Amino acid sequence: MPSSSSPRSPSQRHRLFAWLSPEAPVAPPAVADNDPPPRDSGRGAVHRRLYDEVGEFLFRNGLAPSPTNFSVAHAYVSGEDWEVAQAVATHLRSGAPLLDDDVARILDARAANELTPEALAQLAQTLESGLVDYRVIIGESRSDTSQFGDDLDREAANLDTDPVGALHRIVTITREAVERTRRVEAQLQRSQREADQLKADLESARRAADQDHLTGLPNRRSFERNLREALAADGPPPTLALCDIDDFKQINDRFGHPAGDRVLKFVAGFLEGQLGKSALVSRYGGEEFACLFRDADTLEARDLLDAVRERLGTRSLVNQETGEAMGSLTFSAGVAPVEGDRTAQAFHDADHALYTAKRSGKNMVIAAR
Ligand code: GH3
Ligand code: MG
Ligand code: MG
Repeated sequence: MPSSSSPRSPSQRHRLFAWLSPEAPVAPPAVADNDPPPRDSGRGAVHRRLYDEVGEFLFRNGLAPSPTNFSVAHAYVSGEDWEVAQAVATHLRSGAPLLDDDVARILDARAANELTPEALAQLAQTLESGLVDYRVIIGESRSDTSQFGDDLDREAANLDTDPVGALHRIVTITREAVERTRRVEAQLQRSQREADQLKADLESARRAADQDHLTGLPNRRSFERNLREALAADGPPPTLALCDIDDFKQINDRFGHPAGDRVLKFVAGFLEGQLGKSALVSRYGGEEFACLFRDADTLEARDLLDAVRERLGTRSLVNQETGEAMGSLTFSAGVAPVEGDRTAQAFHDADHALYTAKRSGKNMVIAAR
């Protein structure tokens, strides 16, 4: 979901720096002279708050306003990157100050869970050395075979003059060749096993790179690729929906984060199961899910999703850990067509409709137009 929390424009940056400086506290003006008015003052206010909270977090922890610190502060404050948010929360709970190095370590650990260019390079290197092994084995066995042929020819020529000696040497040469062939065979089998293992590693790396760890749904990256593929294929324009669980923070607050995680898994499975083949469901961020309808227009997609919303509302959740009733759960959604290849516009429209649903009381699905 687009976010305007990073200080991109010079005026935003100027305001943040001025505000962070304890010597010259300057209250940031609501709207700077040359800033365009926010498109939607409600959404603008949410972004404003998030922006302030990110600054407040950095200031409180004495962190420099560097890109790294901003991204971790944003992840923590917005809850958009759960893994980073949890690592920060755990660190803060320990009572230790959060230093620049800690922030860098948290980001490094996050990167270790992703399929980074370095991890890919490592896999490619293993693959390359495996191929070199193959080439060496095949090259050696070729020259062995031709050497064997030459030796046989030579001894065959000796058969007339020294039949017993030649025969004896032919037997020895053949025995050695058989022995060499066995060694090559064993080497090839070893290389084959390594290649199989590598193939399995690559396959699971590919799956992990496309999957959300918690829910098992396709992640944002995979969703966006699917969307591009849908646009490239022949067929009607696809429809995008963004769903956001209502008041999810309260679930965490009341029942704890592990219960919140289970609820997320449940909603993921529910959306996927209910929408079935009509939509690709992915976890787009924290408690947000994106759905791609390939064969439904905006109104059809809205109706399908609305029926799912209604059915979800009839389910009573129970905390599996404690047996405690958690009540029911609702979500709000915004649905928008993807026209041409204007995906950014579609995300904006769906997001805007979702925001309207939230502002109008939640637990509803709204079509962009
Ligand atoms: P709204 O109805 O306006 O959407 O309110 P909300 O409480 O759902 O939304 P808000 O953005 O205030 O809070 C979302 C919370 O979701 C914040 C974050 O801590 C939590 N969250 C995000 N990802 C995860 C996760 O993976 N597991 C758990 N347990 N909580 C998560
Ligand atoms: Mg949300
Ligand atoms: Mg929510």
